[in-house]
Amino acid sequence: MTASPMVVTRFAPSPSGHLHVGGARTALFCWAYAKGRGGSFTLRIEDTDQKRSSDAASIGFAKDLKWLGIDWDEGPEYEGSGGGPRGPYFQSERLPIYRRHLDRLIAAGNAYYAFETAEELTALREAAKAKGVPFRYKGEIARARSVEEIAALRAAGAPSVIRFHTRAGPITIEDEVLGTAVIPDGETDDFVIQKADGFPTYHFAVVVDDELMGVTHVLRAQEHFNNTAKHIVLQDALGFRRPTYGHLPLIVNPDGSKMSKRDKDKVLRKAIAERALTSPPVGTVDPATFAAWLKDKTIQLPPEVTTRLATLLGVTLPEINVDDFRRSGYLPEVLCNFLSLNGWSPGGDLEKFDNEFLREHFDLARVLKTPAKFDRAKLLAFNLHAISAMTREAFVTRAAAHGQAFHAGFMAKLTVAQFRSLCDASHERSKTLDDLFRSNTFITTADDDLVLDPKAVKKVLEGGSPCGYDILRGARAVLAPLADWTVGGLEGVLKPHAESAVGGSLGSLAQPLRVALCGSTVSPPIFDTLAILGRESSLARIDRCLAQSGVVA
Ligand code: GLU
Repeated sequence: MTASPMVVTRFAPSPSGHLHVGGARTALFCWAYAKGRGGSFTLRIEDTDQKRSSDAASIGFAKDLKWLGIDWDEGPEYEGSGGGPRGPYFQSERLPIYRRHLDRLIAAGNAYYAFETAEELTALREAAKAKGVPFRYKGEIARARSVEEIAALRAAGAPSVIRFHTRAGPITIEDEVLGTAVIPDGETDDFVIQKADGFPTYHFAVVVDDELMGVTHVLRAQEHFNNTAKHIVLQDALGFRRPTYGHLPLIVNPDGSKMSKRDKDKVLRKAIAERALTSPPVGTVDPATFAAWLKDKTIQLPPEVTTRLATLLGVTLPEINVDDFRRSGYLPEVLCNFLSLNGWSPGGDLEKFDNEFLREHFDLARVLKTPAKFDRAKLLAFNLHAISAMTREAFVTRAAAHGQAFHAGFMAKLTVAQFRSLCDASHERSKTLDDLFRSNTFITTADDDLVLDPKAVKKVLEGGSPCGYDILRGARAVLAPLADWTVGGLEGVLKPHAESAVGGSLGSLAQPLRVALCGSTVSPPIFDTLAILGRESSLARIDRCLAQSGVVA
């Protein structure tokens, strides 16, 4: 009896842009499927599209996978993961390997050099259109050339591609998720397997690598289902084994549209329309680009411009990539849990589980065929639940790590004790690790840029008896000479001052200070707020506020 081969799955991203949540879900399922069966999980970087690939994107993908807790056994070496006997794991470094297999195909008459020009192909496409039949190029022009002609063209350095000679006959795809599909005869053309730049196409590289890397199970997005027909004919011509296929449902927006970067542009266009902005905020894009983008919904702004505009307009962009979710303060374990439920479920009512559970229970039988709708409200509820279940220490540690990664300027302004007190004040109501930073932007805003909430000004500063401005003026008088500007020192002068000025109500004293210092009526405890800002900023903000009122400090 021969032992069945060890399960090997792979995640094979093309390194352009960032890791999309759909890609992360594919990686997670591949990882869980292999690891739950004592198998091995490979990461392979499909960078054969030289124009679109970048090293930065490859590193970004590796970093995002690591953050999610998805470790690869074989693949690029990164922070203790990867390496392995079947590398290199970047397709751009495997060109001699592809060459060997291309030569085999050519020698066996299963592939050929093709020199058609774009014009020749267009003419054929037009002719098919005129006849009302779909265009499937079967190498008519290329295969009419003699061996001598081809040799002469190659010797002259004429640009060429290599095409696969697809034989007649239907192609059957067995899929563990979608079932069996038969692609009728004539649907598959003589597709390109080596591009004019000498790089293999995706179809060719994927087939060679899956074989040489021992991949037994190909789990990937449903958008690749039609490609599988090409992969099968190539496997047969090369004498390769057929992996088991499982095509995973797409993750879509609740309205069924694709979750893509366009969603961010859409939110921004709406915010701009609401504010009736006709020119771009300073330091974002040039007016012509801005105008063209506003008009043409298919145009997308570069990611850094999108982020900058969102910050300036104070809008939250929908998260699309793993890195967006990380930035927004989602916990990786929550994101994995939630992504697992997009296209799979463990059965019963169970919804909250970790990667260990997924690895033990994930199977293809329970993978859905239909698209999974991404429910942001549910994800947020999961995140809130996980954050509130954390111990105080865990929250401080994780919020600090998030702060160091995304809010270094903020963190630099606080002592450890101050940060802990901010955490204590925000823990209970934090839906994400970012909430604490978002609700305390007064800490990093320049004194002169602080915007006071008009409602708070009216209610707290202009109203009351004595009015808030008077209370603020009195507080300033006792704060100005204070030498010990610490929580203890501040408490030492403000508490007795509250007794004499506002009948002992610390709240009545704190609210006008809050509006002056933070712009709103919500802030950490007032002594902490003053201590965090420091003497200079605190007094400057109080003075600015009093000056705005026309009351002299
Ligand atoms: N490189 C392909 C992609 O990023 C993956 C294809 C596959 O898994 O076969 O979509």
